[in-house]
Amino acid sequence: MDSMSSFIFLRKTWIVALGKFSVIVLIGGILIAIIGDYLDLFEGSLGVAIAISLSIAMEFISWWALYYTIRCPTCGNNLSRFKNGNKMAIKHVYRALTEGTACRCCGWQPPADEIES
Ligand SMILES: [Zn+2]
Repeated sequence: MDSMSSFIFLRKTWIVALGKFSVIVLIGGILIAIIGDYLDLFEGSLGVAIAISLSIAMEFISWWALYYTIRCPTCGNNLSRFKNGNKMAIKHVYRALTEGTACRCCGWQPPADEIES
């Protein structure tokens, strides 16, 4: 049986959304800055600087939340880290949480996904 995504079960889908949205902000912000500069609405370089800072801030919050706020509801073990406390690679974390991989400490898993099965 397939487990539900831990992101959904633990109500952390906003972390994924924020990570994706930061890319949109970066690309969208730069495009708006180019257009704004072309139309003489505002200084393009300022727009680019704002877009980059905003995107980095969002990326950082998403990264931070991924490693510091996702915990096992049973034992409190951090699901984004190895047992020794080292951080897992970001792609690995995303895959493990999306697939609902069991907790390394107590074996907790999100319940089976009833929608897909
Ligand atoms: Zn656990």
